[in-house]
Amino acid sequence: MNTQEIKKDLTENALKFLTQSINEFDENLQFSVIHFFSSIELFFKARLLDEHWTLLYEKPEEAQSGNFLMGDFKSVTLSSSIKRLRNISQAGITQAEEQCFQKIRLHRNKALHFFHTFHRPDLASLKEEIISLQCQGWQFLYDLLLKKWDPHFSDFRERVYECHHLMLGQRKYLTKKFELKKSEIEFAKTSGIEVNVCRICGFQSSLLREILGPLFQGDCIVCEKCVTLITVTCPRCSGKIYSYEMGEGVCGSCSEKVDLAYMKEHLDEDCTSLSDLAAGEGGAAYCSLCEFREECVIEIQEEYLCLNCHTIFKDFYRCGSCYSRVSGEDDFSVMNGCPGCFY
Ligand SMILES: [Zn+2]
Ligand SMILES: [Zn+2]
Ligand SMILES: [Zn+2]
Ligand SMILES: [Zn+2]
Repeated sequence: MNTQEIKKDLTENALKFLTQSINEFDENLQFSVIHFFSSIELFFKARLLDEHWTLLYEKPEEAQSGNFLMGDFKSVTLSSSIKRLRNISQAGITQAEEQCFQKIRLHRNKALHFFHTFHRPDLASLKEEIISLQCQGWQFLYDLLLKKWDPHFSDFRERVYECHHLMLGQRKYLTKKFELKKSEIEFAKTSGIEVNVCRICGFQSSLLREILGPLFQGDCIVCEKCVTLITVTCPRCSGKIYSYEMGEGVCGSCSEKVDLAYMKEHLDEDCTSLSDLAAGEGGAAYCSLCEFREECVIEIQEEYLCLNCHTIFKDFYRCGSCYSRVSGEDDFSVMNGCPGCFY
């Protein structure tokens, strides 16, 4: 069976449904909601197919190559896709990603069963709510397709960029809300609050507040989405760089890129002496939560911060199998191992 051909079809369909959803948003919100969710499901199925074709069945034990090729079977739900990917691959889905996709699923269910919700005269606020979710959902998908799942979707990079461009255009549906919120934003600025460009909706409407050292939370008062970010000084122009995940970021002023190694070097407050390093002490730890492939947890104000998933830990331990430093509390690592044992 040529699963690569099938994966290509699934991905093409996912991209088609997404484009369709964007195009019909204004005229046919109900179908836009349905097609957007179908697109998410299809991307997940395409990703699962790279693990094994039987995983596309709701019940893999009932898999038969004959009906698979005909597309004649009950396929896996999004919840099960997420669970399967978490169990079998390191590129797990975060809680935030799952919550967002599930919210989109709830709107899809309404769109399928409650016709009237999408056909009333006062649709403005529902439209705003849905476009905020779709912008966030797309941001998550975009990061999955181009970063975490990059080896699986590199052939589709150009098509993903095209969709990204179309999704950016969708932000226009939040313009009215931005206009209404302008005085609130100005007031926040005069009160000394830093207001950032929101990563989800693109408006200058994300109010930053410090959580721990370089870790900030941005609450957007236009799309009402919240993101966490880590700030670091740009090595070229000394401006501020914001990193949203994987310890990577791009300078908004001079486009300089920084990576995880740079972030670790500049943010880690664990002042390890050379003799400590030689003895295997100090340095960053692996993250027990996101299980990122590199050591990405650093010390900040006597706590431990993951530069990938932004979780704060109170402590770290030594893996019982490979002696790597790992964040959190030891969960029987002698038997279970740690991310350091796998990479
Ligand atoms: Zn926003
Ligand atoms: Zn710069
Ligand atoms: Zn993490
Ligand atoms: Zn280990």
